[in-house]
Amino acid sequence: MATPAFVFKLPDVGTSIFSVMSQLAAEHGAINLAQGFPDFDPPTNLTEALAHYAGLPGHQQYAPMPGLPRLRELISAKTAQVYGVTPPDPTTEITVTSGATEALYAVLAAVVHPGDEVLVLEPAYDLYGPAIRLQGGVPVYVPLRQPDFRPDWALVAAALTPRTRLIMLNTPHNPTGAVMDAADWDQLATLVAGTNTLVLSDEVYEHMVFDGQPHRSALQHPALAERSFVLSSFGKTYHATGWKVGYCIAPPLLTAEVRRVHQFLTFSVSTPTQHAIAEVLSDATHYHALPAFYQHKRDLFARLLQDSRFELLPTAGSYFQLARYRRISSEDDVSFARRLTTEAGVAVVPISAFYHNALDEGLIRFCFAKRDETLHAAAERLRQL
Ligand code: PMP
Ligand code: GLN
Repeated sequence: MATPAFVFKLPDVGTSIFSVMSQLAAEHGAINLAQGFPDFDPPTNLTEALAHYAGLPGHQQYAPMPGLPRLRELISAKTAQVYGVTPPDPTTEITVTSGATEALYAVLAAVVHPGDEVLVLEPAYDLYGPAIRLQGGVPVYVPLRQPDFRPDWALVAAALTPRTRLIMLNTPHNPTGAVMDAADWDQLATLVAGTNTLVLSDEVYEHMVFDGQPHRSALQHPALAERSFVLSSFGKTYHATGWKVGYCIAPPLLTAEVRRVHQFLTFSVSTPTQHAIAEVLSDATHYHALPAFYQHKRDLFARLLQDSRFELLPTAGSYFQLARYRRISSEDDVSFARRLTTEAGVAVVPISAFYHNALDEGLIRFCFAKRDETLHAAAERLRQL
C-alpha cells in the first residue's frame, strides 16, 4: 500500500523558540531569562479573587461570548482614563480574548484573505508570520530601522500596495524594547489615509515604558483608531502570563468581525478568571506603578552587566533587553544561546528567531521580569564570560 501523502500547512515551522529555550533551561537547571514571563507572583488581591471566584457556585459556566460585561466596562473606563480618549463602548468595541494570542489570531482570521499582503516589521514576535500564512496571507517583511529598531516609514511606504490588507505594529516592542512616539503614529496615519488598509496594534507591554515617556496608543490617534485593532494582555500587566486573558479594542464594524471568529475559536474566556481581573482592575495603583517597577529591573540588570563583555542596547520599554555578544564569541546566535544555557547556566533567546529568514545579527534577548535575586544570580554567571 502506498504511504498516504498527507499535506500540512506549516511544515517548515519548528517548535516556538520560547518553548525550546524554556525546556533547555529546565533540563540544564539554567536561570531562565529566555521566555518572557515573571518569576514572581501576581498581586495577592488578584490571586485571592481568583481562588474566591473559582470556588463560587454559579460562576463556573461559560462567560458571555464577548467577555463579562463588568470586565468590559472596567476595560473601557481604564482605557479612557489612561489614554484620555472617549471610553470605548463595552458592548460594541471591546472583546475579551484568551490572551493577546487569540486576539491576534482572531483579527488575522477575520480580515486576511488568501493572497492578501500583511506588513510585518522585523524583528517580530514569532507568531505573526505563521498566523498570517495560515490564513493564506502573504507576510511582507519590512526591516525596522537600525540601530534603534524604530519603524522606517520610508520602507513601510515602499512596501504598501493596493493588496496590503493590514499593517502589524508592536509598541513597546518585543524583542527590542523600542517604543513608538506620536510622530511615528502620525507618519503611519499619513501612509494609510485614503487606503483600505487596516492596522493591528499589539500593545501588550503598554504599562512598561521607561524614563518618564508615555506609551502612545493607536487609540489616541483618531484617524488610526477608526481602522485599528488594539490588543492588550492582562498576562503582562498583572504578572500572570499563565492566565491567558487579553482583549481587543476596535470600532464596532471591526469588533463585529473579530467576534465572528472569536465565537468559533474559543467562544469565551475562563469565567472565574475574568471575575478576578474585574475585581482588581478599577484600582489603578498597580499599573501606575509598573513603569517604575520594571525600570528598576532594567537599570539593575544593566548595572550588574556593566563590566561584563556583553554590550547592552538601549531599551525604552517592554521587559526585554537586547545584548551583543561579539566580544565573547563569534558563534551564530542560536549556538551561542544554547551554549549560554547549557554551559553558563543562563537561558536567553537568539534574535534570529524573530526573523523569517533567521537573520543572525549577533544579538540575544534577556527577559528582566525577574526577582532582583534572580537578576543578581544570572549576572554573576554572565560576568564570568
Ligand atoms: N504579542 C507580543 C508582542 C507578546 O510578547 C506576547 C507575549 N507572549 C503576546 C502578543 C501574547 O500575549 P498573551 O500571553 O496574552 O497571549
Ligand atoms: N511573549 C513571550 C516572549 O516573547 C513568550 C510567549 C510564549 O511563550 N508564547 O518570550
